Amino acid sequence: MNFIFISLFPEIIRSALNESITKRAIEKSLISFETINPRDYLKIKERIDDKVYGGGPGMLLKSEPLMKAIDDATSKFDRTESKIIYLSPKGKPFTQKTAETLASEKNIIFICGRYEGIDQRIIDHYVDDEISIGDYVLSGGELPALVVFDAITRNIGGVLGDHASLEQESFSGGLLEYPQYTRPEKMKLGDVPKELLSGNHAVIEQWRKKQMLGITASRRKDLLEKIKLSPEEKALLEEFFDELEQ
Ligand code: SAM
Repeated sequence: MNFIFISLFPEIIRSALNESITKRAIEKSLISFETINPRDYLKIKERIDDKVYGGGPGMLLKSEPLMKAIDDATSKFDRTESKIIYLSPKGKPFTQKTAETLASEKNIIFICGRYEGIDQRIIDHYVDDEISIGDYVLSGGELPALVVFDAITRNIGGVLGDHASLEQESFSGGLLEYPQYTRPEKMKLGDVPKELLSGNHAVIEQWRKKQMLGITASRRKDLLEKIKLSPEEKALLEEFFDELEQ
């Protein structure tokens, strides 16, 4: 899968992608990335920001260099096989489901905004999806693009060492993940739950399911409301809260 980041600060992107899982995925040719800087299309001494029609505070990223950058990016791929995403607080909230869906794309072009954003006509003409990573405003689209990129690439076969781990992570089945423990078995902070030491697969699975249901119910009622619980799951949830009271 190929990614292009259109950004005024390509170093933010490069430094993040040359580490860890992403670095290995690039080395294995599972993904590739490139950055395009709209500044490279400016005339000498030309500014990269421009005033907003109608007045008001702040500036917008200048349109002509941005359009040239987008045209260059799209010329590298078949347009029917590429998706242009503009990162924006006004976009659709980003979810695990979106990450999983986008993982089947061939080419993704991220437009990272700066200043107060970009001209609406560029969004209307070029952008396929506007994505927000949360209800807060950041200074630029680089971190949101990296967040979206990271969540997508985890779903590409071979990027993670153990693909099974994806299936058990938070959100994959609509629930938050269960608590996890590593050695030592006993320490000042407490002991590892006995169910996890039982060696009995069914007992472990049931304990984990109970924790997933309980934690999701305690922290993210909105997620639980989207799921139809079976009678067994309802019983596990009750058990979770009964145990909390003991
Ligand atoms: N004036 C814009 C507004 O009120 O919606 C905010 C502009 S913000 C300061 C600059 C850039 O950061 C945006 O163009 C966008 O690319 C990026 N950005 C900021 N917050 C974001 C968020 N929550 N999700 C995605 N992108 C975001």
